[in-house]
Amino acid sequence: MSASRKRSKTGGRKAPPPQFICPCCGYVTLAERGAYLICAICFWEDEDILYDKNPREPSAANHGLTLAEARANFRAIGACEAAMLPHVLPAEQRAAYLHFPLDN
Ligand SMILES: [Zn+2]
Repeated sequence: MSASRKRSKTGGRKAPPPQFICPCCGYVTLAERGAYLICAICFWEDEDILYDKNPREPSAANHGLTLAEARANFRAIGACEAAMLPHVLPAEQRAAYLHFPLDN
């Protein structure tokens, strides 16, 4: 219980910066696509890019939610589904992310 914990972290490996647009909310929140990354803005889980082209296909990673439903939910309530509301980033913090509004 006496060892000093002052050693600095070696390497400092950082997560890659987000550079891909979330297919649900349109914010640039994903470091890669189709890698089950969870969007900090809307909490959509980016299971597979196939949902971009098939937004009415239920996504298993999103509990059967479709991308089309998730987009509608995000517009209405600010999260991909109501259950995720406690987890999403507060609206005032969204400004830290680039946004390319999805219109469809
Ligand atoms: Zn999102």
